[in-house]
This record gives sequence, structure tokens and C-alpha cells, in this order.
Amino acid sequence: MARTKAEHSRENKERYNWYKERGICTTCGRTWVEPGHVRCKACEAKIKVYHDRDREQRKERKAARRQERIAKGLCTECGKRPATEGMRMCPRCRAMRNDSTRKYKIHQKTLKGAKQ
Ligand SMILES: [Zn+2]
Ligand SMILES: [Zn+2]
Repeated sequence: MARTKAEHSRENKERYNWYKERGICTTCGRTWVEPGHVRCKACEAKIKVYHDRDREQRKERKAARRQERIAKGLCTECGKRPATEGMRMCPRCRAMRNDSTRKYKIHQKTLKGAKQ
């Protein structure tokens, strides 16, 4: 009988908590961990390598997708609507970007104002 995804993730969580409560590495389940840690040093190192590689791959994929969109004349943000002539984004995404940039700036200003 195939297990459902929900059951599987619940089991994983239970296992994780079981190990965590006992101070055992939640990844390999074989080594004791230092207080405040959930993984042994070996597993932490492995995960770091994995994350670094993953981040690199994600960055590359994102850049490739961007290039592809530019080549097709599509908006680099949504990839659905055509980009405005001479621009990299469609009017809608550009408006949103401008809006969030403006809001961010206002927010920063408010923060500065509050400090003084
Ligand atoms: Zn471990
Ligand atoms: Zn767009």
C-alpha cells in the first residue's frame, strides 16, 4: 500500500523531533550533537555543500531563463507578457517594480525619521 505524502511528512517530522529531543543528529541519526544544534558536524558540512551547490545552480538557471526571455522579447520578470520596446519588462511588472521600490524608499525614510 502506498503511503500518502502527508503521512510521510508526518513521520519525518516525528522522527526529527524524536532525535532532536534526545540530542541526536536529525539527519543521520547516528551521532550526538552539540547543544543548540540539530545536526552533527559531518551532516552540517554536507548540507552546506549541498546548499551552496543548489544556490549556484539556481542562480545559473535564473540567469539562463532571463537570457532566454530577453532573446524572445519577453518580460524578464513574469516571462508571459512581451517586454516594452527597449525595456526588459512589461509595463505591468515595471509598474509593480517601481511601486515596490517607492514603497521601500518611503519605508526607509520613515525608519530614519523615527530614529532622529
Ligand atoms: Zn549526522
Ligand atoms: Zn511582466
